[in-house]
Amino acid sequence: MKDKIEASLAILREAWQQHGEGLVYPCSFGGESSVLLDLIRQAGLPIPVVTLDTGRLPQETYDFIDEVRRHYGIEVTMLFPDREEVEAMLRAHGPNLFRTSVELRQLCCKVRKVHPLGRALEGRSAWITGRRREQSKTRERMQAVETDDVYGLTKYNPLLDWSWRDVRAYIDAHAVPYNRLLDRHYVSIGCACCTRAITVGEDPRAGRWWWEHEDVLSECGLHVGRLRAARGENEQGEGI
Ligand code: SF4
Repeated sequence: MKDKIEASLAILREAWQQHGEGLVYPCSFGGESSVLLDLIRQAGLPIPVVTLDTGRLPQETYDFIDEVRRHYGIEVTMLFPDREEVEAMLRAHGPNLFRTSVELRQLCCKVRKVHPLGRALEGRSAWITGRRREQSKTRERMQAVETDDVYGLTKYNPLLDWSWRDVRAYIDAHAVPYNRLLDRHYVSIGCACCTRAITVGEDPRAGRWWWEHEDVLSECGLHVGRLRAARGENEQGEGI
């Protein structure tokens, strides 16, 4: 664990050294966020934290955001989707469009997450993610530093080699703020309506968009890029 912490701190310091104020952390406020927020504080780096408030987040995530603001005394910039875009989407497809088809689920993710993320990254040269290799097949070949072929920025993945057990152990050992859904076996946390707890032996991301056919990539448009491009898919990818 000590080695992993040092490796992650080194990646964060390198990111700051290379990009300074061009760096941003779009934070999902899931399990990995607890570790990254604490490591950023340990490293003493003033990396701005933004989050995408899709309008459908679980109450536990809002509670966690508040706790982080109090605990670290930091500002969390909450970005909302474009009101007119959401209203047009709901008028055309209804509030539960994500259950209707993969295409409409991806549309919802695009409107509520991908477009706001684009705003979060505007004027930046690099961003930090909480992605880990073990999370899914689409992340197995991930590197610590990547060139983002979607946004054209440098992407740093300080937790790439952390297991879920490492994440949970760090949270417990350091008594850092965390999303209380973790205590109810939510491993990957997104919108309330699209996230469920997982059971023993299930894939860590099985709790996201579980109603979709299993050969559909469970990604929502924030991180994919190369893999999807290789599969001839247009969407970008998920992560937060
Ligand atoms: S996770 Fe679900 S509700 Fe949230 S943006 Fe994606 S489809 Fe929409």
